[in-house]
Amino acid sequence: MLTAFPPHAPRAFHVLVKPTGATCNLDCAYCFFLSKEMLYPGSRFRMADDLLEIYIRQLIESHRVPEVQLAFQGGEPTLMGLPFFRRAVELAEQYRQPGTTISYALQTNGTLLDDEWAAFLAANRFLIGISLDGPRAMHDQYRVDKGGAPTFDRVIRGLDALKRHGVEWNVLCTLHRGNAGHPLEIYHFFRDELGAEFMQFIPIVERMGETAAGEEAEGWSSWRDRPLYTQTGERTTLRSITAEQYGAFLCAIFDEWVRRDVGRVYVQMFDVALANWYGAPSGLCIHSAICGGALAMEHNGDLYSCDHFVEPRYRLGNIRQEHLIELVASERQLEFGRDKFNSLPRYCRACDVRFACHGGCPKDRFILTPDGEPGLNYLCAGYKQFFHHVDEAMRFMVEELQNERPPANIMAHVARQDAAAARAAARPDATAYPPVGRNAPCPCGSGRKYKQCHGR
Ligand code: SF4
Ligand code: SF4
Repeated sequence: MLTAFPPHAPRAFHVLVKPTGATCNLDCAYCFFLSKEMLYPGSRFRMADDLLEIYIRQLIESHRVPEVQLAFQGGEPTLMGLPFFRRAVELAEQYRQPGTTISYALQTNGTLLDDEWAAFLAANRFLIGISLDGPRAMHDQYRVDKGGAPTFDRVIRGLDALKRHGVEWNVLCTLHRGNAGHPLEIYHFFRDELGAEFMQFIPIVERMGETAAGEEAEGWSSWRDRPLYTQTGERTTLRSITAEQYGAFLCAIFDEWVRRDVGRVYVQMFDVALANWYGAPSGLCIHSAICGGALAMEHNGDLYSCDHFVEPRYRLGNIRQEHLIELVASERQLEFGRDKFNSLPRYCRACDVRFACHGGCPKDRFILTPDGEPGLNYLCAGYKQFFHHVDEAMRFMVEELQNERPPANIMAHVARQDAAAARAAARPDATAYPPVGRNAPCPCGSGRKYKQCHGR
């Protein structure tokens, strides 16, 4: 029972619970988490009922906001079976404080979902994240089962069950060298064929140690040769995305989104960018100044600083021995979060888009800055490209928000710009807008003065 909150305890935080540990029915080649089974030799990898109860009680006690999120991930959490989740909901209802709501979230590969699952998830308003890497060929390149068989059809079957029951879902797509070169194909597939309204794109950056030959190496491919993955090594596997690919991918889908889909399709990175341009909390640790509010809990109650740092030296303790909030508000965890800012290289501190980027995730900071300082993010070039690319549109949307107008007005603005550019291109000798006075209407058709628009 919690008697007092420790100093610096956050009012809310996020924990990804792994009831099956790293156990999964798939064997995706790039999965950094599967190897974490090695941390618990001999374990059955099933969260015990009494531990589930301890966790839910502590989670609810630890929050001082009206909504508490209970989030499950893996490995593959659906391997626990439906009774586990029924019990979780029952316990959450039992411990829920009056006036508090519990929101449920589940990240899954989707292959085990059927109508029974979907009916339960719909009834309890779970938000489901489905892992899907694009159309069939792109998805099946790395997302295979333990026998190496493709999984696309099984995921789509599971997703169809969710849709039949009206479950809220979003798509989580990892980006690697097999699919990063196809931004619009992927975006259109998700939007038009699956009907996705929420999308999240995660760049695959797999670090390798010195034992690898050459600048890059193929890397492991299955449970047969996968080493215990830790955030070490300055090299990357061949399937890792490059920074330039990541930047180009984001820019390409942004250009599509900003013309057609603002307000009806939500791409996490675009929302995060808009929040940072607006000066509001971005809601994503990667592009926040400090982190530490997104922890991971293993099947036995071990709490780690972050899902990406489930490694012995980032183990904060176990909730059977110490209350969850004591661990979340421990000096070690607070320092973990502050380090994100404190370890920024000078190059980042002087960067013109640091307010939007914040140096990215520390797990990816393993390259040198142009002047040789360690600790620059491997994805830096891509971040710079993207944040510069969206600057004008972000400023426009912020202005709309500040004037209590919908940011979706950007679509009409971009349409006017496109029309003006097309007209200019249609003139035989035209290469740009004609000369115009600073106070004259901007030739792009925005309706603003030239000096406040393209003359700015
Ligand atoms: S280490 Fe990276 S993923 Fe983990 S909390 Fe910090 S920014 Fe987020
Ligand atoms: S864009 Fe690059 S230099 Fe700028 S803050 Fe991000 S990682 Fe640092």
